[in-house]
Amino acid sequence: MFTNDNDRLIYEEELAPRLPEKIFDAHVHIWSKADFPADFHFHEKSCNNRFGGEFTMAMWRSIVAELLPRQECHLNCFGMPNDAADRDKLPEGALPGDFINVLVSPADPAELVEERIVRSGSTGVKPYLNYGAAFYHKPANDVEIKDMLTPSQLAMLDRRKLAVTLHIPRSGRFADKLNQRQMIELCDKYPNIRFVFAHIGRAYFMKNIYESNLDEFVKYPNAYFDTAMINHEGILKYTFDHFPAERVLFGSDAPISFLRGKSVEINNQYAYLMGEDYAVGTSIVDTENAVKFTTFFYEQLRAIINVTPKEHLADVLYNNAQRVFLR
Ligand SMILES: [Zn+2]
Repeated sequence: MFTNDNDRLIYEEELAPRLPEKIFDAHVHIWSKADFPADFHFHEKSCNNRFGGEFTMAMWRSIVAELLPRQECHLNCFGMPNDAADRDKLPEGALPGDFINVLVSPADPAELVEERIVRSGSTGVKPYLNYGAAFYHKPANDVEIKDMLTPSQLAMLDRRKLAVTLHIPRSGRFADKLNQRQMIELCDKYPNIRFVFAHIGRAYFMKNIYESNLDEFVKYPNAYFDTAMINHEGILKYTFDHFPAERVLFGSDAPISFLRGKSVEINNQYAYLMGEDYAVGTSIVDTENAVKFTTFFYEQLRAIINVTPKEHLADVLYNNAQRVFLR
């Protein structure tokens, strides 16, 4: 069993009465050890080791069946965007209603990316900043959005009308002016690509979203945001107050979201309070078991249920994603 008595109580009392029948998680990482060289290991405390160094579709299905026993669940997934992962390997085990994406580096010719997309039936791509850093020999903090996808990759994605799930770079995240400009440029220049800016532009604390240009995206119908790892009601509320709920997608960032913990804002920063001894970004581990944690996944659902306008809850939790990924 993955869930404990406390989780089951949360589901029965808080979640089940309010969740729709179908849930779509737009941000899941699915990978197997076979995607990596035989001698590859994640750092000992890496959250990627929580489920034995891999996270297969079968593992996702079995955990989600425990966490949401009365919901029909589907996902949009991509591999683990690590430099050592073989980008030719794609998540296996998708069922009708599930979508998969190709990991993409600027090192990959557009024709190769297209071949992987066609072969796997993928509906989009997932670039990541470490690939841009490796290809352009830049420190990870100096990577720009324009280093993450090449013009020829973008032209191909636009021609095929695919989706891009983009985790924006740079330490200022959504408050960074260069990011803001380059995000808008993408939406403007490639109207057939649906851009899903992950983690609401990585704005995990209020000051970051106050200084964002969220309102500017309203006029770009191809701009979307996923809520991966956001359990901050203030961030979600600000998003719904400034941006159409029709273009907000629930995403969890599983398997990280299946660890026990909660993200908290502290003095214009944020940290992950961890209920188990793994590192997720800036982590504070509750070594003394001072509090009983549930999963990040439940904390995210709690926040979404509390803040999403009622009439849009089923859209955010399922329907909106169909417009993004179904082709
Ligand atoms: Zn992710």
